[in-house]
Amino acid sequence: MAFEDIRIVLIEPAHPGNIGAVARAMKTMSLRRLVLVRPRQFPSEDAERRAMGAIDILQRALVVDDLDQAIGDCRLVIGGSARARTFPHRVLDARQCGAQLIEETAAGEPAALVFGPERTGLENHDLDRCSHQVLIPTNEAFSSLNLASAVQLICYEIFLAAREPITPEEVDPAELPSSQNEMEYFYDHLTRALDSRGFLDGQMREVTIMKLRRLFGRSRPNSGELKLLHTLTRLIHRDGG
Ligand code: SAH
Repeated sequence: MAFEDIRIVLIEPAHPGNIGAVARAMKTMSLRRLVLVRPRQFPSEDAERRAMGAIDILQRALVVDDLDQAIGDCRLVIGGSARARTFPHRVLDARQCGAQLIEETAAGEPAALVFGPERTGLENHDLDRCSHQVLIPTNEAFSSLNLASAVQLICYEIFLAAREPITPEEVDPAELPSSQNEMEYFYDHLTRALDSRGFLDGQMREVTIMKLRRLFGRSRPNSGELKLLHTLTRLIHRDGG
């Protein structure tokens, strides 16, 4: 059931009131799984007040220390950001985001939507862990929505998309994109291999790693393709690691 498989992940929410408002936004649209990464204050009375009848969502919320714990098992991870980035992801608007989530969770696969902190938004290194970006179209001169409003709009689109009947396709699991954990394992291998050649020395190191992550992240390799990439990476590695 798609709604159960879609989790809303908030990174470092600063205001407990916003966490409550997010819970309420989710419940009105039938979503139930909330994950909080290093919330500044939780549990909190403020959050409960703002959640109104959605306290059950707060009670079931999972609190974790880092983003990987929240999204590691997901193949589809979509990060919300109002900012266009220099090295782009696949960018979806809210409607496309709802449709994609419903389609990819139809067979019971977990998926995650990631939102950034109120003041600073999603950092690049968090967005690098996402396969897609969702950008809710807004006034170009004033594009940043309140956290709970952004969650509300996207959950609404998920709710609408779920009303369209879709029959899950029979997909061979080997054809599915790799999970976030598997991608992280590959990036780690690739980074070590390139380091062994001195390829990543100097100032451009971080930027190069980011570009490579986005390139492979966009292509969403399945398990066979990822195996091939590991084999190529071993050929690069000086000590055959
Ligand atoms: N000041 C921050 C905005 C933070 S709003 C900035 O400039 O990035 C909190 C979160 O809501 C954001 O991290 C993002 O996940 C989500 N959000 C806000 N507006 C959005 C938009 N137009 N499209 C997609 N996500 C948005």
